Order: sequence, then C-alpha cells, then structure tokens
Amino acid sequence: MLDFSKFTKYSKPGPRYTSYPTALEFSDAFGYDAYLDKLKSQDPTRPLSLYFHLPFCRNACYFCGCNVVFTSKEEKKVRYIDYLKREMEILSRYVDTSRRVIQLHFGGGTPTFFSAAQLQEIIAAIRSHFKNFAPEAEISCEIDPRHIDDAQMKVLHEGGFNRVSFGIQDFDERVQTAVHRIQPYDVTKAAMVLARKYGMQSVNVDLIYGLPFQSLETFKKTLELALSLDPDRFAVFNYAHVPWMKKTMRKIDETTLPRPEEKLSIMQYTIDYLTANGYRMIGMDHFAKPEDELFKAIEKGELHRNFQGYTTKGGADLIGIGLTSIGEGAADYYAQNFKEMASYEAAIDAGKLPFERGAVLNEDDKIRQYVIMELMSNFKLDITRFEAKFGIVFKEYFADAIAALKPFAEEALVEMDDTKIVCTPTGTLLIRNISMPFDAYMQKHVANKKTFSKTV
Ligand code: SF4
Repeated sequence: MLDFSKFTKYSKPGPRYTSYPTALEFSDAFGYDAYLDKLKSQDPTRPLSLYFHLPFCRNACYFCGCNVVFTSKEEKKVRYIDYLKREMEILSRYVDTSRRVIQLHFGGGTPTFFSAAQLQEIIAAIRSHFKNFAPEAEISCEIDPRHIDDAQMKVLHEGGFNRVSFGIQDFDERVQTAVHRIQPYDVTKAAMVLARKYGMQSVNVDLIYGLPFQSLETFKKTLELALSLDPDRFAVFNYAHVPWMKKTMRKIDETTLPRPEEKLSIMQYTIDYLTANGYRMIGMDHFAKPEDELFKAIEKGELHRNFQGYTTKGGADLIGIGLTSIGEGAADYYAQNFKEMASYEAAIDAGKLPFERGAVLNEDDKIRQYVIMELMSNFKLDITRFEAKFGIVFKEYFADAIAALKPFAEEALVEMDDTKIVCTPTGTLLIRNISMPFDAYMQKHVANKKTFSKTV
C-alpha cells in the first residue's frame, strides 16, 4: 500500500470540472436574447441530448449537493409537470424538435418521487414534442431504491428507458444514520431485481466515500455488498463537503469525517477491488465492465464528460429542462435555468424560457476546456492531436501549466514529454489537481477557500 500521507498536501479546494468554465463563471452577461440566438442558430443536423430535472424529495440526505425541493405535497408535483410541459412548448419555438434525440436523462431530486402515472405523463409529453428518438438512444433515470415500485419501473421500461442509476452511498448503518438516509441492503436488492425484470441494459450504483464514520474497513464491506448486486457500472464519488453552500451539510459533525489519507486509501482500495472483480476505471470516479460502451470509448479516447458524468454521446447539443437544469451547446455556451421555483414559474408564465444565466466560451476557454476534459475523461492528453486541432504550440501556450505540473512529475503522478501528458495510476486519484493548472479562472478563486469542495 502506498504512503498516502505524502499526498495530503494536495487536499485543497478545486472544481470537479463537469463543465469548463465552471458554473462559478456563469453570469447574466450572457443574456436571454443572446441565449435565444444560440438556440435558433444550432446546426439542425446535430443530435439532441435532453436533461430533465425532477427536483422533489421527501427528506434531506445530509451529504446531498443536488438542487432539491423538499416536499410531501402532491399538488407541487402536479403543478411542476404542468410547467415542464409549458417549458417544452416554449422551447419548441426556438429549437427544431424533430432533430434526432440520442440521450435523455431524468435527474433530481428523486425522479421516482413522481408516481407511475405522473412519470408516464411526463414521458408522454416529452415524446409528443421530441418524436425522433434514435433507436440506440441512451435513456436513463436516477432512482432512489427507497422510492421505486414495479409500476414505476414498468412505466420507465415502456417509455424506452434502458438505463437506471441507484443511489446507495454506503451500506454501513452508522454511516447511514449520520447522513440521514436509512436504506437497508434488501431495499436496494429489491430495486435491482426490478431493474433486471424490466430488462434495463445498464444499471449503475452510486457510492460516496468521505462520509461520516467511514473507514477503509467499513467501506470494504459496502463495496462487497454493492458488488453482490452485480451492477454494470459503479460511480464512486468523493464527498463534496460544502456546508457554506448547502445548509443540510451543516448537520454533519466534521470531526467524524475521514481524513484525506484515509480517503485516498479508500479510493485506492476501491480501484484495486473493482479492477480485481472485472471492472475498469473510467474517468475520475466511474467503473464499468469491459463489455460496457464507456469502456470501449476510453479505449478509443472518445469518452466525454458533461453534467451527468461520463458519456459516449459527445457531439450533441444538451438542453436542460426544468428547475436549475444546465444546457451546453456545441462547446460554445452553457445555459442554466432559474434555481428558485418562483422565478422559474414566473418566466414560463411570461411566455419565456426559464433561462437565468450562463457563459459563452471564448477561444481560450475552448482550448482549455479541451485539455481539461481530455485529462478528466481519459487521464491523458495527446499533445500532437491537440496541436493539430488548435494550430498552436502547446508548450508555449501552456508554459505556466507545464511548470506547475513539474512537482507532479517528480512525484511520479504524471509522465510528460513533448507529445503527451499521461497520469500514472496514483496520479488518477489527483486528477482534479492535475487539471487545475490549465484553468484560467482558478487564480481568482485561490484566496477564497469557500468556493469548491476539497480535491481529497
Ligand atoms: S441524495 Fe437524492 S434522495 Fe437524498 S436528498 Fe439528495 S436528491 Fe434527495
């Protein structure tokens, strides 16, 4: 086992790079009319990827970083479905909805907090607007195993959903109590049985390391139980503790959080354990079986990263629908909907898209986005390919970043020469740190410790 204590110096605030520039750089400098122009000028031959945010949950899991509306009121869900339908109607004035859809994702919140009939109504509304779904489209839903029954899974299956992702986080009872999410193994197992009954092609499970009372020993047990469910994919996330941004995280006693060296040993063990059991690490925190398309994409260097994690479906325009959703157009802009329900509804009531803010990428952003996403997805950068694509000399353009990576090279975390940058297996654990020197906005956030979660 490596001596992880020497890497704890890398435990510093840093982005997770689901986008570049990160959401911190989104602003209202990108205005509503400019956004409409971007939508209207999209290339109609490009496929669409659709993200729907279904934000409701009954109770707060204390670790949760999602944008959630806590409620037990049925009328709020009914009302939200109505607004989703109206948002799609407005959207169809600006986007050619006959374009091919290659990806659809329901995220939350808890999408399955909606009843089977409500899910059916949402899916029918989507399909009435977007009729051209590709036969191979990736259609996925995040599922809380505590809120899924046979009727809901059947509706998803009949609606064309072929992938589901189950939130587990940790099976240890003490950890579950500390994070306010009690979810016995049998509940998750029952959800898995339903997914298999309805022929879901891919089932992912989410785990989180860095939660209260976790240790390498407790996490070993969680991994063993999760593996016994035989998922197709694992996502093992580093807990992002940002209590200054998320009130519910303040309920977590920070003295019970594992130390950085413990977290690194958990992640190293996770990589070794899942690799020994037939999975392969894909990007920063995902693992898949060799027959999985994510695995094949990494082999070809074609893995992409977006707000839903890693995907093989690059080259589509992503449209975010619903509260707080983020869209991304042809590597040129990011657009985010309102986060507050009242503002979201008011925009739609006024006949407008609920767009709040975003960012238009300049040339430098595009260059850096490419480098950061290559590193975050494929753990390497082919400099020859980069130079051919952008027509610039890498070592001149990124002289500062190369200098900043020297200490990583000295500690055998990366290998660099004039043609490539490659992370070593240990370097993959610190991929956020290795990507940060290429981030032009990082410097202005360095002094403020309360911007990003810690990288380790
Ligand atoms: S983790 Fe999932 S179920 Fe828990 S509060 Fe967040 S969105 Fe809701």
